[in-house]
Amino acid sequence: MKRSSSSSKNSGDQITDVLEIFLPEKAASSSKARQKQWNKHLARLAKQLPGEVSLSPDVCKKYSGDKWFASALPDAVALPQNTGSVAKILSFATQHKIPVTARGAGFGYVGSCVPILGGIVLSLERMNKIKEISAEDFVAVVQPGVLTAQLQDAAEKLKLFYPPDPASRSDCSLGGNIATNAGGPRCLKYGVTRDYVLGLEVVLADGSVVKLGGRTHKNKTGFDLHRLFVGSEGMLGIVTEATLKLLPLPPSRAALSIGFRRMGDAARAIQSVFRAGYLPSAVEVADAFTLQSAQKRTGSSLFSGCGAHLIVELDGQETSVRGEARSLAKLVRAFKPVFVHQAMGAKDCEKIWQVRREFSYGLRDTGLTKLNQDIVVPRGRLEDLFQFAERLKKRHRFPIACFGHAGDGNIHVNVMIDLNEPGVLVRSNAALDELFRQVLAWDGVITGEHGIGIARMPWWPSAASSEVRRLHSTIKQAMDPHGILNPGKFVE
Ligand SMILES: Cc1cc2nc3c(=O)[nH]c(=O)nc-3n(C[C@H](O)[C@H](O)[C@H](O)COP(=O)(O)OP(=O)(O)OC[C@H]3O[C@@H](n4cnc5c(N)ncnc54)[C@H](O)[C@@H]3O)c2cc1C
Repeated sequence: MKRSSSSSKNSGDQITDVLEIFLPEKAASSSKARQKQWNKHLARLAKQLPGEVSLSPDVCKKYSGDKWFASALPDAVALPQNTGSVAKILSFATQHKIPVTARGAGFGYVGSCVPILGGIVLSLERMNKIKEISAEDFVAVVQPGVLTAQLQDAAEKLKLFYPPDPASRSDCSLGGNIATNAGGPRCLKYGVTRDYVLGLEVVLADGSVVKLGGRTHKNKTGFDLHRLFVGSEGMLGIVTEATLKLLPLPPSRAALSIGFRRMGDAARAIQSVFRAGYLPSAVEVADAFTLQSAQKRTGSSLFSGCGAHLIVELDGQETSVRGEARSLAKLVRAFKPVFVHQAMGAKDCEKIWQVRREFSYGLRDTGLTKLNQDIVVPRGRLEDLFQFAERLKKRHRFPIACFGHAGDGNIHVNVMIDLNEPGVLVRSNAALDELFRQVLAWDGVITGEHGIGIARMPWWPSAASSEVRRLHSTIKQAMDPHGILNPGKFVE
C-alpha cells in the first residue's frame, strides 16, 4: 500500500501509525506486481480518454486524501466530463479488476474517498452543472459535482429552498452529500439529504447506466432503489445526475441565542421547547470548553458565566415567526439563562450563526487536533451524554469539546488530541471505544452524518449486527461482483 503525506498535520510516521491502527489487515494487501499490471492498462485508458485520465504523480497526490488523517496514492485520476466517460471508465475497470474510488469535493471527515487499495480515483468535479431548476415542479436536476451552496443560492433566487445544510456546504458536492446522506442544523425540521433525493442516474460497476426514481414528490414504483445509493459511500455505483426536491423558501427567519450556567439547564430547556409544541428549524448546542475557546479567540465576554449555549432558529411567515420567537424567549427564561438575545430577519440571524462558526475556529486555535465524532443519541439522552463526556474527559485525560445538532441528538463529541504525543492514537481510540459502547448501549448510533469511511471501521462490527453486515455484503456482491467500487472499506 502506498501512503502519501499530503496531510499537513501529520509527519509520515504519524500517517503510518494511523493506517496501521485503523486498517492493520489492509496495509499489506496491495501487491506491487498487480499494480504494475494496472499501470499498463491505465496508460491505455488515458489514451482512450484524452484529457480525462491523468497518471501524473502530482495529480495523484492531490487526490489522495480528504479532511481526515490518512491518505493513499491512487495510480490514476479520472476527471470525466460526462456520464458516457464514467461508463467507459467503469466498464474498463471491471474488465481489468482495477479499484475505482469516487470522489466529490474531498471534504469528507472520515476518509471515505481515500483510495486505500490504489487504482483509479474518479473525481466528479468537472460534472458540475445545474441542469434545471423548475419552480413549477419544485425540483432541481443537477450533476454530482455541483457544490451544495451553489444549488442553494440558485434556488433562493427563484424563492425556492434546498434545506440540507452541512457546515461544509460552500465546499462539498451534492454527489458527496448523497453518498454520505449529509445533514446539518436545519435537518431537525427538514430532514437529511435522503429526504430530497427523488431520482438518480447511476453508473453501475459494469458500466451500465440506470435511471432510478423520477421527478415526482411521491413514487411507489417497485423498490426504493434510488435511496439505496444514498449513504452508500461510493460502494454501489457512481451518481452522475440527481433530481432533488425543492421547497418554497420560507419568507422569514428568527433566532434566539441563549447562554446557560449549566448544560443540564440547556438540555431541559430543549425538552420544554418540543413539549410546548414548537418545531424549530434548528436547535444547536455548545459546551463550556467550546465557549471558552471561542471567547479566547474573539476576546468577547459574551459567554462569561456560561456553561452551555443554545441557538434556536425558527422560519416561516413573518407574523408567526415573530410571535413564536417571543413566546420561546419567555419559555426558556424559566431555566434562568445568563442571557437571551433575539434576532429577526436573515441578516440578524446570520450574526448569531457567525458566533457558532467561531466555535470551530476557536477549537482550531487551541493547537490541538479535533477528532470529530458525529454520534447520535435518542433525544432524551442528551443530558446523560454531556455528563458521560465529562467523565470520559477525566478518565482519558483529553479535553473534549461537545457541540452540534441538539435537536436531533446529533452531537459532535470532539476528542482533542496532540498528534505529536507518542501513542496518542491508541489512547484516543480507547476513549472512542468507551464513547461508542455507551452510545450503542443507549440505542444511539456511532455516526449520524459523516459515515463510516476508514475512521469508524474499527467500530463497524459493534455498530451493525452480523446479520446486518451480511445483508450489506449480499447487496454489495449483487451490484459489484468484482468488488471494484471503493474497495477495502467497511463492506466487501
Ligand atoms: C469543516 C467541515 C464541516 C462539515 N460539516 C458537515 C455537516 O454539518 N454535516 C455533514 O453531514 N457533513 C459535514 N462534513 C462532512 C462532509 O462535508 C460531508 O460528508 C460531505 O457530504 C462530503 O462531500 P464531498 O463532496 O466532499 O464528498 P467526498 O469527501 O469527496 O466523498 C465522500 C463519499 O462520497 C462518495 N462519493 C462522492 N461523490 C460520489 C458520486 N458522485 N457517486 C458515488 N459516490 C460518491 C465518495 O466515494 C466517498 O465515499 C463537514 C466536513 C468539514 C470538513
